[in-house]
Amino acid sequence: MTRVIPRFDILAAAKYESPSNGREEKKRMDMEDVFGENLFGLHQMKSRLPKPQYEALLSTVRNGTELDPSVADAVAVAMKEWAIEKGATHFTHWFQPLTGLTAEKHDSFLNPTRDGRAIAEFSGKELVQGEPDASSFPSGGVRATFEARGYTAWDPTSPAFLMQGAGGAYLCIPTAFASWTGEALDKKTPLLRSVHALDEQARRALRLFGSPPKAVRATMGPEQEFFLIDEEFFYRRPDLVTCGRTLFGAKPPKGQEMEDHYFGSIPDRVLEYMNEVELELYKLGVPLKTRHNEVAPGQYEMAPVFEDANQAADHQQLMMSTMRRVARRFGLVCLIHEKPFAGVNGSGKHLNWSFGTDDQNLLEPGETPHENMQFLFFCSAVLRAVAHHQDLLRASVAYAANDHRLGANEAPPAIISAFVGDQLQDVFEQITSNGGKAKSSKSGGLMGLGADVLPRLPKHAGDRNRTSPFAFTGNKFEFRALGGSQSISFPATVLNTIVAESIEEMCVQLEHALDGGSTFEDALRALLSREVEGFKHVIFNGDNYAPAWVEEAERRGLLNHRNTMEALPALVEEGNAALFEKFGVLSHRELESRYEIYVDQYFKTVNIEGETAADMAATMVLPAATRYLHDLLTTAERANNVGLKVEGILATARKVGDLIDELTEKLAVLVSQNAELGGDDVFSKAEHMRVNIIPAMAAVRHVVDRMEKLIPDDLWPMPMYRDMLFVK
Ligand code: ADP
Ligand code: MG
Repeated sequence: MTRVIPRFDILAAAKYESPSNGREEKKRMDMEDVFGENLFGLHQMKSRLPKPQYEALLSTVRNGTELDPSVADAVAVAMKEWAIEKGATHFTHWFQPLTGLTAEKHDSFLNPTRDGRAIAEFSGKELVQGEPDASSFPSGGVRATFEARGYTAWDPTSPAFLMQGAGGAYLCIPTAFASWTGEALDKKTPLLRSVHALDEQARRALRLFGSPPKAVRATMGPEQEFFLIDEEFFYRRPDLVTCGRTLFGAKPPKGQEMEDHYFGSIPDRVLEYMNEVELELYKLGVPLKTRHNEVAPGQYEMAPVFEDANQAADHQQLMMSTMRRVARRFGLVCLIHEKPFAGVNGSGKHLNWSFGTDDQNLLEPGETPHENMQFLFFCSAVLRAVAHHQDLLRASVAYAANDHRLGANEAPPAIISAFVGDQLQDVFEQITSNGGKAKSSKSGGLMGLGADVLPRLPKHAGDRNRTSPFAFTGNKFEFRALGGSQSISFPATVLNTIVAESIEEMCVQLEHALDGGSTFEDALRALLSREVEGFKHVIFNGDNYAPAWVEEAERRGLLNHRNTMEALPALVEEGNAALFEKFGVLSHRELESRYEIYVDQYFKTVNIEGETAADMAATMVLPAATRYLHDLLTTAERANNVGLKVEGILATARKVGDLIDELTEKLAVLVSQNAELGGDDVFSKAEHMRVNIIPAMAAVRHVVDRMEKLIPDDLWPMPMYRDMLFVK
């Protein structure tokens, strides 16, 4: 007996009604009032703290000076009062374990008194340090279970904030997370250390240039790509629910080829969603700025204005969780997986990155020759770092989901190169050909320089190259290889550290030449000439997607680590370990633990996908195909009984039968590979995933996707791409 499967209700999904429909028109948001409403920032501290305590705190935030415990007490009192006024009942140390997500454990402000009542309390001690029972967070062997506790430590440089929702309000205190032996168990600690390393080295360079050696901070502005689909579809796809991406799905007749979605007008429902995301994030002081449709149908992008690295990384986490949470209010699910749908673009996260003082972006070509020498110095330091540490940059974006983008048939490639644009390229060429002296520059919005030492520099070069993994975009670099769901902390940590190293090594050379009696200009000219010679092979302004680039890159000796398992070992390579140790960013042990955790995450991700694919093929797809075969055979038999010879029915039945056989065979392989453990340690298990599970999954998918094109719509047991991508 054939039973029609109650499929999803596509009409219900399409007929979505806005929650605000029929209600009074929503009051327009007053951005200036709303912004930072739920943030305990400097502004709040200033009005609530006694002056000396406020000044002490400000100095910690601005200059990284150590914080006096008495200040913490004062801050705790002010914070508690503010949070309670806003309806908070609990506080939590909010941290970023190595899962790449955020974690929180709530404690009530409540303290019972002896006379049967209770008062709200919050001390400096509670603000400064917490002890979550953290034994279930990944530590990569750093924390044996007998010393399972980790502790969280207040990060005064990132303001506390208040989360509000149907479940009440609670105060979130950004913290670092470490083991009792002092090892960082999180993503924030190394980021803060790397910011410090970059600051020290950049200040040293500024001193050499005779510029005021002010505090230098790394700045970041991440652009977040994502998909929105109706939740009706999401919950009917076990692959989306457990893996965040579709493991099956035939290419729809229409994908992104019409190029009609990119920058198109944003659908009403999506716009309403974006407004709500903005409102929530504005309250938390996250400065969202841009929004638009992306290339694939159902794909969008939102981006904040850049901020200091630490704050930007915290805000990026808040942004992802808010985007996911708010979607449900609109009957949507926000997918930020790197590759939710095969055949259309995946989602990346472009990390715009620079560094500078309060009043100067050091990657901005300046108004004066002096500033421009400085600019060329710092810009060269970045390119030098990229050339020397392609392996680390690549490793910092290596994980299972991102393998669908990097090195697959989608941008950017796994080869790390840098785009600088024609004008800067021209400048670099002249520097090497004239021994550090460049005279002219390609025209195009140039600014005068006046000195013959250095060429005229382009201001905000308009060049755009969308295919480069690491592009100079006028006054910042854009690291485009990050994946949509990734925490930006580790890639930023790597960038800050390798650039700190470059600056240091370049400073040493300058100092040496100056000691030897060279003039500053001569020393700089010689240095730049040598450096450009050393990094020019990493510059590539052409099309990074072209197959020819792969060969060319190989000739240039650039690395091409095609997948996570090839990329990750660079983390623990001896020279790299020494680099992280030297700048106090990650100890050997901390680095080893990250390596192990990342490999383990790769193993687990692919393992879950392999199991899910096998389950879905066995319990959803095969039964659907069998039902269809039954239908066909029953019809053929009945037709035969009344003397009708319908050849088409039998031909279709044979096709279905063949596909059933093929699927049974491929599925058996996947099931048996899933049953294999692949060895005892996590490295061989991960390798088993790469070598055996991924191809076995692909083989199953290849059959299932052909079945989808043959089996009747009302029997197909899951929503298809053509449903999911186009209902808005
Ligand atoms: P795109 O054309 O790539 O979308 P945008 O001009 O929109 O570029 O900028 C993208 C991001 O770059 C924004 O988040 C912006 O705030 C950020 N950005 C701009 N200047 C800097 C800087 N100095 N440091 C870090 N990020 C920056
Ligand atoms: Mg961009």
